[in-house]
Amino acid sequence: MKFSKFICLLLFLGVFSCKNNSEYSTSITLGQSTSQPKLVVGVVVDQMRFDYLNRYKNKFTSNGFSRLINQGYSCNNHHFNFIPTYTGPGHASIFTGTTPSVHGIIGNSWYDKETGSTVYCTTDKAYTPVGATAKYGQVSPRNMKVTTLADQNRLFTQMKGKTIGVSIKDRGAVFPSGHTANGAYWFEGLSEAKWMTSSYYMDTLPQWVQDFNAPTKISSYLQTWNTLYDISLYDESGPDLSDYEEGFKGKLTTEFPYDLSALMELNEGYDIIKSTPFGNTMITDFALSAIEAEGLGADDYTDFLTISYSSTDYIGHNFGVNSVEIQDAYLRLDLELERLLNYLDANVGAGKYTLFLTSDHGAADVPSFLTDIHIPSGYVPQNSFTSLYTNLKKKYGVSDLIKKISNNQVFLNQDRIAGLKVNLEDVQKFVVNQIISYPHVKKAYTATTMQTRYFKDGVEKMLQNGYNQKLSGDVLFTLESGVISYGPKGTTHGSGYNYDTHVPLLFFGNGIHPGKTYERTSVTDIAPTISALLGIAFPSGTTGNVIEEVIY
Ligand code: ZN
Ligand code: ZN
Repeated sequence: MKFSKFICLLLFLGVFSCKNNSEYSTSITLGQSTSQPKLVVGVVVDQMRFDYLNRYKNKFTSNGFSRLINQGYSCNNHHFNFIPTYTGPGHASIFTGTTPSVHGIIGNSWYDKETGSTVYCTTDKAYTPVGATAKYGQVSPRNMKVTTLADQNRLFTQMKGKTIGVSIKDRGAVFPSGHTANGAYWFEGLSEAKWMTSSYYMDTLPQWVQDFNAPTKISSYLQTWNTLYDISLYDESGPDLSDYEEGFKGKLTTEFPYDLSALMELNEGYDIIKSTPFGNTMITDFALSAIEAEGLGADDYTDFLTISYSSTDYIGHNFGVNSVEIQDAYLRLDLELERLLNYLDANVGAGKYTLFLTSDHGAADVPSFLTDIHIPSGYVPQNSFTSLYTNLKKKYGVSDLIKKISNNQVFLNQDRIAGLKVNLEDVQKFVVNQIISYPHVKKAYTATTMQTRYFKDGVEKMLQNGYNQKLSGDVLFTLESGVISYGPKGTTHGSGYNYDTHVPLLFFGNGIHPGKTYERTSVTDIAPTISALLGIAFPSGTTGNVIEEVIY
């Protein structure tokens, strides 16, 4: 058969279409290329410091974190490049490839200059809770002003690729999955014990979520928390009984075991599950149910599943980064990852999905512990700036020039200042000069400086990346290393120091070139790297770079 006749026969069979002659023949197939990942899984481990990967390495199995490291690509010098390092801004930045200056999530909550009230990052009064009556159920991603990776995938696939977001925290599910998610689900404990969503996504919970919410199912996570291995083996951590840990209400010491059924009444009911490794187990179970029920990875259009493991954050706050409790949480999370990977291998196919794992911020060592071993550290009480108010009154004659101090920012009463015919920048500078004199304050800058200077690096650049002209305050300040605004037990995060910025970044699976780097990478590089792997448009606000070595 002549070649042209062969082509026409194929054309007749519907395999090719061609214009006039065979030299214009084009292969047409439905769906995406079969070499594309069928599913992208974006895993965020809330409050995971990079050093945990090394500290616990000898006790991890070979099939969880170690499998991702050994068979994937590890960015070992990966950092957040903005302040403040909190959950809402962290999750938004990972999936948009930009910082609060662009995406607008400047904190978990912030003082709203227009309304004069504090707003929570996902609150949207246009929507109602679905599946539970939670106070945080009026939720949408609309405060995030740019697109995410998953949004771009939906656009690229003509909305054929699906997106599902899963986390115990609403902000851990809502921001990663973006504006166009098919569903985002989070857990409401208290007396309800329900996975829920918002009317932004749907009017009723799908049957598979209703099934998951069966009381016997949720109650099965109310277990007694004991260490996975014999406690004498946890020599990578401090002693189990320690003055640096907050612990659960109703239990006098911070020692294993913790009987959750007995403790739940004094610890916000079913919310106690969140603060134990069983919260992460529940997240894995819920994510696997989502994959099966929603058919994620089942066709050739790339789907997105975002999973944020929240319990590590609650446990870190409660017990600190050096506790047996946090080590046990990571040894158990390692097993959760193994379970997730095994499920994906069996149900989507080994090599047919791409997974990345990172964190939304690290955490400080407990300052009282640092102080005891002579490392500079300390605490700044929440109300420590009282003399600032009196000094402003002395200078300008009025007592209402500050509207709010939150997230290490001072919001001035700009209307009042205009009424006094005082220059706003002069007041900002006065506040800077006052605040810098307080103990444990490291640096202070005016908003005018943030708007008119360009900082290339250092803490100034991180502040600038976190500064949003529409939303942020008039003066920004930072604290010294090891200093937090928090109670004397447990710990927190939010600073630009390495303990808060240095987190894991692991890529694994379809299209990923195995290897590792110690070159510095930033949170804003994740989204463009995955976009490049998929060949889709970058999220609209992306400011980072493709980490070329990661992808073929
Ligand atoms: Zn967090
Ligand atoms: Zn936290």
